[in-house]
Amino acid sequence: MTVYANPGTDGAVFTYKPRYDHFIGGEYVAPVKGQYFENPTPVTGQNFTEIARGTAEDIDRAVDAGWKAFDAWGKTSVAERAVILNKIADRMEENLELLAVAETWENGKPVRETLNADIPLAIDHFRYFAGAIRAQEGGISELNNDTVAYHFHEPLGVVGQIIPWNFPILMAVWKLAPALAAGNCIVLKPAEQTPASIHVWMDLIKDLLPAGVLNIVNGFGIEAGAPLASHPRIRKIAFTGETTTGRLIMQYASENLIPVTLELGGKSPNVFFADVADEKDSFYDSALEGFTFFALNQGEVCTCPSRALVDASIYDGFVGDALERVKLVKQGNPLDTDTMIGAQASNDQLEKILSYMDIGKQEGAKLLIGGERSDLGGELSGGYYVQPTVFEGTNSMRIFQEEIFGPVLALTKFNGYDEAIEIANDTLYGLGAGVWSRSGTQLYRAGRAIQAGRVWSNTYHQYPAHAAFGGYKQSGIGRENHRMMLDHYQQTKNLLVSYANKAQGFF
Ligand code: NAD
Repeated sequence: MTVYANPGTDGAVFTYKPRYDHFIGGEYVAPVKGQYFENPTPVTGQNFTEIARGTAEDIDRAVDAGWKAFDAWGKTSVAERAVILNKIADRMEENLELLAVAETWENGKPVRETLNADIPLAIDHFRYFAGAIRAQEGGISELNNDTVAYHFHEPLGVVGQIIPWNFPILMAVWKLAPALAAGNCIVLKPAEQTPASIHVWMDLIKDLLPAGVLNIVNGFGIEAGAPLASHPRIRKIAFTGETTTGRLIMQYASENLIPVTLELGGKSPNVFFADVADEKDSFYDSALEGFTFFALNQGEVCTCPSRALVDASIYDGFVGDALERVKLVKQGNPLDTDTMIGAQASNDQLEKILSYMDIGKQEGAKLLIGGERSDLGGELSGGYYVQPTVFEGTNSMRIFQEEIFGPVLALTKFNGYDEAIEIANDTLYGLGAGVWSRSGTQLYRAGRAIQAGRVWSNTYHQYPAHAAFGGYKQSGIGRENHRMMLDHYQQTKNLLVSYANKAQGFF
């Protein structure tokens, strides 16, 4: 067990700066309007740094810097860019602990997760896209002996990216790596709840990128996000966040007719078929862990398996064992490597989760475990901690239909395969799902029948760079990860060339 010291205290792996400005054109610049906002850590509720509060004027400067840099960056070879992406990955790996602690301190998630999952995944993402861009082929096809069609992948130019707070560095990297690999320049707006860790990352790698290639403008959604998404000189907007905000982003983008990718909310079903309980073996154990995954990252995951569907014939026994497993999920100081779940990312989020617990109780759902704020004592008393919570109810209830984005599970039963699929698909969302069975046929059928962009079978919460990720229905448009992501950041140039030196003969 290791307990990392709070940033800025004796023995800490690093100290935040007291203030972070925007990063534009390769340097830190103060916001045009001179305003800053405080950034509290969810671990203790105390402010630890202040952040530039960006507006349309700052976005303008960043877009200008991006276009200035694009002249040269857009013409770099894929080999050159791949080298840079690999160097960024190496630099991150050398500073793994620092980045993990920064992410934990700012977001409240446990350091065992940032050390072993979030930051390693972000590192691998750069390596994956360094390889993917090199392996990408243009196309040459002959129309006839004299006429040839060449296809080239060209970058779009300056693109805008807006990200949420639940995986501050990883969500940024999911967008940055493919965009950089494809030769674009970027204006990134981090979430106002977690604005600092991306600057800690930028400080580490800024010497590896030419000035202006990556610009970071901090601020709030309406003040900085909207001017970015509606800016007439960006060539694409990529957004991750709430479905309601996603609708606005599409409206802004339609004014300039630019492409949009949206990664939005979810209410993912986790389906446990009857044969899961055929034996109490290691497979059964893995299914119990799969059930508890609603609490991973404090439930602040867009694919949180927030609805559990259990076959009625095994319901009582399986749910009894699963609740015992939930009790083993250790909540504590996020900087302790033994801690499994930490704090919610913000006080607003904490309030939202507590209000959904009230809604669940009022609409008649049965509280099986949890249901309260946690007070962990000492300096953690001011932090934003919530107990892992399980409600039993029916799929029409609000806690089954609305995204809570906390460690709150809505549990129900089904009678047979058809009803399982019907309940699983009875949602506006379609981002993730889990299916658990000993039968390959059942897994395959259910995996194809559930309307979601990612269906995990006998596993959950794995996010490798090479597996396409994205939503059906109101969970989004487009995909992230996988080399297909490059298509969202490139445009195809076709040169159709005749080598015949003779008229075509029509006129
Ligand atoms: P949010 O939509 O409130 O904010 C996300 C980002 O959008 C922030 O940077 C915010 O400042 C900005 N924003 C807000 N209003 C804006 C506006 N009018 N114009 C432009 N930008 C604006 O979402 P959130 O609460 O920060 O994030 C949680 C949501 O993100 C959840 O719904 C979750 O499911 C979703 N999410 C989805 C994925 C995915 O890959 N599908 C991943 C992570 C989170």
